[in-house]
Amino acid sequence: RPIADARALQDWVESIDTRARERLGQGRVADYIPALAEQDPSRFGIAICTTDGEVYAAGDAQDSFSIQSISKVFLLTLSLRIFGNDLWERVGLNPSGMPFNSLSQLEVERGKPRNPFINAGAIVVTDHLVSAYAAPSQYLQDVVRRLSGNNSVLIDRRVLDSEWQHRSRNAAMAYLMKSFGNIGNEVDDVLYAYFACCALGMSCVDLAVAFNYLAASGYSRMADERIIEPELSRKINSIMFTSGMYDAAGEFAYRVGLPAKSGVGGGILAVVPGRLSVCVWSPALDGNGNSVAGQYALELLSDELDRMLPARV
Ligand code: GLU
Repeated sequence: RPIADARALQDWVESIDTRARERLGQGRVADYIPALAEQDPSRFGIAICTTDGEVYAAGDAQDSFSIQSISKVFLLTLSLRIFGNDLWERVGLNPSGMPFNSLSQLEVERGKPRNPFINAGAIVVTDHLVSAYAAPSQYLQDVVRRLSGNNSVLIDRRVLDSEWQHRSRNAAMAYLMKSFGNIGNEVDDVLYAYFACCALGMSCVDLAVAFNYLAASGYSRMADERIIEPELSRKINSIMFTSGMYDAAGEFAYRVGLPAKSGVGGGILAVVPGRLSVCVWSPALDGNGNSVAGQYALELLSDELDRMLPARV
């Protein structure tokens, strides 16, 4: 049973697409690796997936892009699934107030990253997964295929290779953490797995469907599987709320008010617990590394949500 009129929801998503496109032309595409620098800044896509499993999409919602830091949410989910709250002995839970690839805080805080959504934190989370699985990035790819229902989701080799070539800064973080005893495996193995997960190519539709478990208390309708306990699903949403948008998490919380995770490929995943998951994508980023048109689309969605898709009581 769809929770709202399908036609009205499709029209709504299309109208967000039209209005968000007015912001195209602002911002800049990430340029730290060629594969991202070549992205076309005039692209925009949006897909929502309701907790009933209905998908509404518009614009370039079917086109695959580099999910980059959005993968940190998958990594955290898998790691919490195995290690539960023990994870927090090695990674903190507070916003960093520093750039996502900062080294200085890591030195002062003796190798314990502030949270799992800055690079250092995601590298520690990946270290856990390298300990648990023989081929962690392959395993993640399989999980993501099940969650999205799309068997052609792939790790993009070209992105992976250029991340690897430009790994100095992430390698510096990983070695610093290893010097404090917070990385157990070989740094190269951990970094390679981390980059492979960043290099997953997925579309807005893939991501909205795959992350629907965060809107549905940990249950994936697509995979017909409980991915994580409701309590942990709520906690992941909380961390997205406080640390998912780089240094702009506070501003984004004020403007949009939803748990979200952004990536430098221009994607943003957001969650309305109990109602829907949504993914927007547009490659041009603002100074904080968040998609300009994507953030605006989520602001529109949040403003209009109660009218379009009222919470069920
Ligand atoms: N692969 C990027 C890095 O590790 C992730 C950047 C991002 O999306 O925040 O530097």
